[in-house]
Amino acid sequence: MLVSFALRNTVADRRIIPIDCPVCRKQNVAAQAQDLRQTLLLLHVLPVFHHRPTLVTCQACGAELVAGMRTADLARVGDPQHVARYLRVRLPLVLRALVLGGIVAWLLPLIGTVWTGIAYGWSRRYTGWVRWMALVLFLLSLLPTLGLVLAEAWPAKAPAASHGPPAPLP
Ligand SMILES: [Zn+2]
Repeated sequence: MLVSFALRNTVADRRIIPIDCPVCRKQNVAAQAQDLRQTLLLLHVLPVFHHRPTLVTCQACGAELVAGMRTADLARVGDPQHVARYLRVRLPLVLRALVLGGIVAWLLPLIGTVWTGIAYGWSRRYTGWVRWMALVLFLLSLLPTLGLVLAEAWPAKAPAASHGPPAPLP
């Protein structure tokens, strides 16, 4: 029998609050805060797992943030700078995969530099480990690429070919 799961997502509370966005650094910008109620349903009916995250979306840059307190509490705090202390950046899954994949990919000449370059360019919008890791991987990736470029520019000298005058025939 195929066991199937479904995720039920309902919004319990939603409101607009002012925040100092940790991603785009804009101050006192409007953000949508919502309390979600996520339930993982086994066979589409049997609840097996509950999760009640509070997500905050910056309306200036669209960054998704995870809040450490409920929407109603965030609204009560009011002061955008104070609210920011309860927000953590939620990294896009693709970015995390790109940076983690870079741990292996940096070894590849050219491909590694393009890969980690994209990861670093994207990660610069965020703070924390992902940004530093992407930067280190990007710098590392320059070594194999540089090696390849040097090898192409100065190919190993082929042994002097015998271009001298043909030996006179006997
Ligand atoms: Zn923002």
